[in-house]
Amino acid sequence: MPDVKPWKCVNGHTMGRVIVVKRGGNKTRQLELYRFASPDEKTKSYPDESEVMGLIDGMTDVRCSICGEIQTWLPDVGTVQRLLQHAGVDKKMIRLVIKALREEEKSDQ
Ligand SMILES: [Zn+2]
Repeated sequence: MPDVKPWKCVNGHTMGRVIVVKRGGNKTRQLELYRFASPDEKTKSYPDESEVMGLIDGMTDVRCSICGEIQTWLPDVGTVQRLLQHAGVDKKMIRLVIKALREEEKSDQ
């Protein structure tokens, strides 16, 4: 069973859920975004498929459908690294970006 956590706006409305999946031996976070936010996480922690808008991989701003607050989804370090490598970014540059992201992830917890 994948690791699942609710993703909420600053006012505590559940806007989606965060799923940790294994991809090629690495763990990566994905956001499953709900069509409508829910005021309560318990009733909607496992919504119908019709209520799910899609899976978000890259960085995205999402507006809460209840209060209008904008929440920014940040992809995990592994995803960013893959995107940068794919774009042909210089290795030194990738290292700097990854280091900055790791520090930000730590300050989140
Ligand atoms: Zn909200």
